[in-house]
Amino acid sequence: MPFAEFDLGKNLVVSADLDSDLVRFLAELAERRGITAAAFTAIGALKCAKLGFYDQEKREYQKITIGSPCEMASCIGNISTKNGKPFVHVHAVLANKDGNTKAGHLLEGVIFVAEIHLRELKGSRLERKHNETTNLSLWDMK
Ligand code: ZN
Repeated sequence: MPFAEFDLGKNLVVSADLDSDLVRFLAELAERRGITAAAFTAIGALKCAKLGFYDQEKREYQKITIGSPCEMASCIGNISTKNGKPFVHVHAVLANKDGNTKAGHLLEGVIFVAEIHLRELKGSRLERKHNETTNLSLWDMK
């Protein structure tokens, strides 16, 4: 059971920029603040989004497009590094005006409001490498 142990670093509370993409916003935030590993949560609302469902047989994401405003009822994720750059992994539960939800791996999300709480993890590197079995970039831990 590979694992890594970290200390808690900075605790950031961030209000994300209107109309920016949540995934890109988090990557740029990590880059600017020199954060190489973190866990985060966020709530708010998105103008539109693209979710991914990973087809384990085809080993690729099927896209689920959400073309209208939605509540970001729950959003969790982590930041690690891949090829020296921040790699943001986000999952979200998005609710439409009737409260019906779609959920999955967040590929893109145009921000209306996003209140982010990011907890930096310090002490080790958390690096991603391509994994042949899954065709995903997974944590490379020994
Ligand atoms: Zn995912």
